[in-house]
Amino acid sequence: MSITSQKPSTIAVWAGEERPLAFGAAQVPIVQSAPFAYDDMDEWGAVALGQAEGHIYSRNTNPTVGVFEEKCRILEGGEKAIAFASGMAAISNTLLSLLSPGDRVVSIKDSYGGTSRLFMDTLPRMQIEVDLVETSDSDAIDAAIEKGCRLVYLETPTNPTLKIIDLDRAIRTAKAHGAIVVVDNTFATPINQRPLGFGADLVLHSATKYLGGHDDAMGGVLIGRKDLVTTVYEHREICGAVLSAFSAYLLLRGLKTLDLRVRKQNETGLAVARFLAEHPKVAAVFYPGLETHEKHDVAKRQMSGFGGMLSFSVDGDFDALKRFVGELKYVHRAASLGSVNTLIGPPSVTSHVECTAEQRAALGISETLLRYSCGVEDAGDLIAQLDQGLKAV
Ligand SMILES: *Cc1c(COP(=O)(O)O)cnc(C)c1O
Repeated sequence: MSITSQKPSTIAVWAGEERPLAFGAAQVPIVQSAPFAYDDMDEWGAVALGQAEGHIYSRNTNPTVGVFEEKCRILEGGEKAIAFASGMAAISNTLLSLLSPGDRVVSIKDSYGGTSRLFMDTLPRMQIEVDLVETSDSDAIDAAIEKGCRLVYLETPTNPTLKIIDLDRAIRTAKAHGAIVVVDNTFATPINQRPLGFGADLVLHSATKYLGGHDDAMGGVLIGRKDLVTTVYEHREICGAVLSAFSAYLLLRGLKTLDLRVRKQNETGLAVARFLAEHPKVAAVFYPGLETHEKHDVAKRQMSGFGGMLSFSVDGDFDALKRFVGELKYVHRAASLGSVNTLIGPPSVTSHVECTAEQRAALGISETLLRYSCGVEDAGDLIAQLDQGLKAV
């Protein structure tokens, strides 16, 4: 049986599981083995040389990890997918294997904190020129690409201020100038947005977030053009940031309910954003599903749901913020996002913990901003808790 359905919910459950699994298992087994053994030297040789299918060593490929990769590949609509130990492993391996000294990269000011550090520190140290553009300014993105670059790195919606990039426009410009386009699709998930459909070459995820969805496993995945993913794969083989079989199993288990979770989180995200936008003690709300969001029209065009992530600032100082956060029930005060449990935290200890206060200020991230990741709890319960908490502001 091979997957013919185009529906994400069916793909997430069945893709990669078409063949009979070991011992007739009904769920993907955790193949906890570093090497794979062969009695026939010729067969071993053929597999090692890539002339026959099979596994040699789990730093290269692993059957459990392979099923996770296949589900992600079909969900994003790419030619090839490879998994990593974390989202940052996916991002750093991709950038370090596709770029060389003398290359120029165009990206945005609002990329994830760890990614920002690669752009601000690591790549310049390797004589790679990085041009970080104002995220919401499509003209500035076009102008930076038109100066010539090897790679364009985008992220939308952004973390934590939920800025939106017009993917169709940025990718058209990049393609016209021969640049490779990479999109971090962690916030949107393939349920809400499929960058490869807009012509991006590569899409990547922190699987730690929505794909796994339960805050119990780290992982990353890169999906897209076969030649490029193969280049990154060869780098990963040597650098070794592979996903473990056990983490792959947890991520697979989570992935099966991705569609269910994200649809509910889309609904809750919109309900929470609307509630906060009306509240007198909330100074600002950032959510692409609100009609007042500066790029709501673009978001509506390129996303099929607006997601479960939002951020907002309370009308008060950092002490008011601390009182408010302390009052909340049904939330973890923790980093990370995209889990079944609701999570809250300021960027200074979550998305941008890697940055200094000055770097955060330069990115326009105020110290009284709070990032809120809707879980799958009852939306009414979450809103009642926020209402209660805001009384302390
Ligand atoms: C968390 C995150 C990352 C990094 O992923 P890890 O799994 O924590 O390494 C990258 N991009 C975005 C948008 C993220 O939210």
